[in-house]
Amino acid sequence: MGRMRAETLQRSADLHYAFYPRNDRDAWLFCSTYHVRDELIRTNVAYRDLEALRTSPDYMKRCKKHAFAMIRQFGMPTWFITLTSRDFHWPETLNAIRVAQGQPKFTDAELESMAFAERSNTVRSDPVTATRMYHRRLEAALKYLFLDCPETIGPVTDFYTMQEMNGRGTEHTHGLFWVKDAPQYGVASNEEVCAFVDKYVSCSIHGIDPSLLGCQTHVHSSTCKTRGANVCRFKFPRPPMRRTTILEPFRDDEISDDDFKRLRKKWADVHQYLQSLGKNHRDTRSFDEFLQDLDLDEDEYVRVVHSSLTQVTVLLQRNPCEIRINNYSRLVHPLWRGNMDIQLCLDPYAVAMYITSYVTKCDRGLRTALAAIRQAARHDGGSLREHIRKLGNTLIHHQAISATEAAMLVLGLKHRRTTRRLVFVPTR
Ligand SMILES: [Zn+2]
Repeated sequence: MGRMRAETLQRSADLHYAFYPRNDRDAWLFCSTYHVRDELIRTNVAYRDLEALRTSPDYMKRCKKHAFAMIRQFGMPTWFITLTSRDFHWPETLNAIRVAQGQPKFTDAELESMAFAERSNTVRSDPVTATRMYHRRLEAALKYLFLDCPETIGPVTDFYTMQEMNGRGTEHTHGLFWVKDAPQYGVASNEEVCAFVDKYVSCSIHGIDPSLLGCQTHVHSSTCKTRGANVCRFKFPRPPMRRTTILEPFRDDEISDDDFKRLRKKWADVHQYLQSLGKNHRDTRSFDEFLQDLDLDEDEYVRVVHSSLTQVTVLLQRNPCEIRINNYSRLVHPLWRGNMDIQLCLDPYAVAMYITSYVTKCDRGLRTALAAIRQAARHDGGSLREHIRKLGNTLIHHQAISATEAAMLVLGLKHRRTTRRLVFVPTR
């Protein structure tokens, strides 16, 4: 007993000494002797404190674990939803800013005739109030539109959401939602899954308030075409379809190479034609007239679209005038009154991609800079304290943070919202 106890005490004293050295020299001497420093760096224990910094990759890593833990426990989520701020146009935000500045609220007539520049200046003059208003709106939406109202996207049992800012500092929210008894792709029939999607999701211009049509229409931006690709990564313009359909990419045994090449060539023509159509919401052509213009019959057209897919995809019922309309929830969109996107989760790999690419995205430049410091620390000397200080400084100086994000961080507004807490249980 004596030896075991002495060893345990010695080990805990060593760790205590590693974390709370009397000075840097002591710590370095101690660490180099006992290899504790290297071990702390190798096992990432040295970086635990960085998890508390909400813009650090370590924090994002913890968030990712949280999302993956929920998927492991509850299975694949049903919906992946994105909600975007439109605070320039939200009267309550503009008025809250006016009141905070000691001025009377805008009248309805003033709001109606307000130029975009004035709206923009009002919001920019007080990012703190604008951010607080966005978070209040989001919390109300999560509670009243998603959790308490099964008619919007089905009876939600759990959700996980994260905040993100785009290049202009506009806030948006990405979320995974689990719905009770939702039909699972691959288990239920495709007809059942499509009927479930059609019940809640649409891209019809007739279901959109005309004042919201602009914000729900996709306009390409610099972030659409990444890494020199010539195709919009959000897959706009999207092909018109007579009815909602689920298609998987062609398997090798399903189609010959020559046939596939022929269909891909036709898809290039169809895609070019779709791009030439622009965002003409007044295009009254029917789906049949659209096929006539392409000189394709329906079966061939669906096969051509099919050949363009790289992953299992839900193609919504869509008219030729709706090729740039983002998918929206029929009931949530008119109440949120900003851009939204909703997709049915079909493929576990796609969900993992949503989480890593959107939900827990971390600045790549910062990640690379921090990784280089960590790598160097494994070979270079120096105390643990110096190393952590260097990381902290990089974290502070390598990030461009918008006023909205700064307000969110300073006010302590939630970065992620979820129905579950994450508790790590060591099982080794
Ligand atoms: Zn685009």
